[in-house]
Amino acid sequence: MTHIDEFESDLHRTALSQLDRVAARLGLDTDIHVRLRAPRRAMVVSIPVRMDSGRTEVFTGYRVHHSTVLGPTKGGLRYDADVSLGEVTALAMLMSWKCALMGLPYGGAKGGVRCNPRAMSATERENLTRRYTAEIILMIGPDLDIPAPDLGTDEQTMAWMMDTYSMTQGKSVPGVVTGKPLIVGGSAGRREATGRGIVYCLYQAAHHTGQELRGKSVVIQGFGNVGSVAARLLWRDGAVVAGVSDVKGAIWNPHGLDIRQLEAHVAATGSVVEFPGADPLDNAVLLEQPCDILIPAAVGSQIHAGNAERIRAHIVAEGANGPTTPEADVILHDRGVSVIPDILCNAGGVVVSYFEWVQGLQYYFWKESEITARLQEVMARAFNRVWGVGQKEGVDLRTAALMEGVRRVAEGYRIRGLYP
Ligand code: NAD
Repeated sequence: MTHIDEFESDLHRTALSQLDRVAARLGLDTDIHVRLRAPRRAMVVSIPVRMDSGRTEVFTGYRVHHSTVLGPTKGGLRYDADVSLGEVTALAMLMSWKCALMGLPYGGAKGGVRCNPRAMSATERENLTRRYTAEIILMIGPDLDIPAPDLGTDEQTMAWMMDTYSMTQGKSVPGVVTGKPLIVGGSAGRREATGRGIVYCLYQAAHHTGQELRGKSVVIQGFGNVGSVAARLLWRDGAVVAGVSDVKGAIWNPHGLDIRQLEAHVAATGSVVEFPGADPLDNAVLLEQPCDILIPAAVGSQIHAGNAERIRAHIVAEGANGPTTPEADVILHDRGVSVIPDILCNAGGVVVSYFEWVQGLQYYFWKESEITARLQEVMARAFNRVWGVGQKEGVDLRTAALMEGVRRVAEGYRIRGLYP
């Protein structure tokens, strides 16, 4: 009989092999391991959208719940031309480990629509978002599954989703999504949360190795929500941000970029390229520049078998999801490069999303200083736990983080048992 794998994709294969490796290390019960390998449920929808031309186009969308054992599911919504069921399923699985690792009462989920949002007008994106929300409405809800922004989606997308869901309920339901604009129940500090979480991880890493961040040289790939915030905070704290890039190109100044001026340049021109006081550089070459800390904060698979030997950073702090391929991971490890893994390093976003959800359920909103203090506490606790597992088990930080996340989800399955 031919074996059909409906989740076939590179990212899904990687996610499964990571799980299998960690399951073997943990000595996981086989009956639980097989359940962790499969998503709880997955929905594929067709989304007809009236385009500005007057014609109707049909897009394909997905929403996947990987595990509901620790609570309602949580995960972003991605608009991208490469979205597939396998990719979304793998990302949902990673969200399960990430939420469990951070101690949040959530399972993992992810959504996606195969489209090119940059080639669509705002009206087309709104029509797409509202119809997608209507198609997956049985899958989402404040105590069921709570989407958030990811690649190609933003605060406005979340406002449209929240409004569409609320219209079907006859009342405002702010807790159905996170990453909303402040005015309709968003949280202070959500936009900065992921970048801030990366910086907290770097402080913890420096603390454990007896170093200081001040004066360290930093290269950042991607100057969007995640990369620009990490750049600003590190620059403010005295690090030398020597190179950054976006989809249009990279810039380099070994003496350090003035990030406030760079932000103004990006606001005026839409890109980091042609920033006065920096040299242009090829995007791929930027990753191989000499620096202490490299922060990939753009897209997946940027550090791979073809360039891992030439990465000269001492620490790779993964802002993006899956920026390092498994082959590159081995090469970096053998070369003594420390990788702070995505499920820990970029978890600040989901932690403050959790705070936003709690605030939305209570209709009581906290000050930004309270949010950042609580975020710092959660990030430090998770980092120290991962560091401790790494030391005790003699494994790298990625393996340690996965072990901790998978162990907690598996424990949830064990204690709840199998229905019926
Ligand atoms: P964004 O859309 O705001 O920014 C992405 C940036 O990367 C842009 O500057 C874009 O020009 C640049 N970019 C895209 N392709 C590139 C390439 N090939 N080379 C160099 N630069 C490139 O997205 P974001 O919210 O900052 O997310 C970035 C990454 O972080 C994604 O992988 C996302 O899944 C992950 N992430 C985001 C959050 C969050 O809270 N936003 C949380 C966790 C993980």
